[in-house]
Amino acid sequence: MQLTCHYCFEPFTLTLFIEDGEEQEFITDCEVCCHPLQINAVWSEDEGRFSVDVSPS
Ligand SMILES: [Zn+2]
Repeated sequence: MQLTCHYCFEPFTLTLFIEDGEEQEFITDCEVCCHPLQINAVWSEDEGRFSVDVSPS
């Protein structure tokens, strides 16, 4: 899925797997500006995809 970095506003791609859990929290570094981003992902059964929040870490 496509997300936007909170620091440089560049889009980046994040791949999530349901096998890793329906609720996932982790830190990932932006590929463009290397700032850490907090990812909060929750599986949405209705939409059949992850609902993802990106916040500055
Ligand atoms: Zn960035």
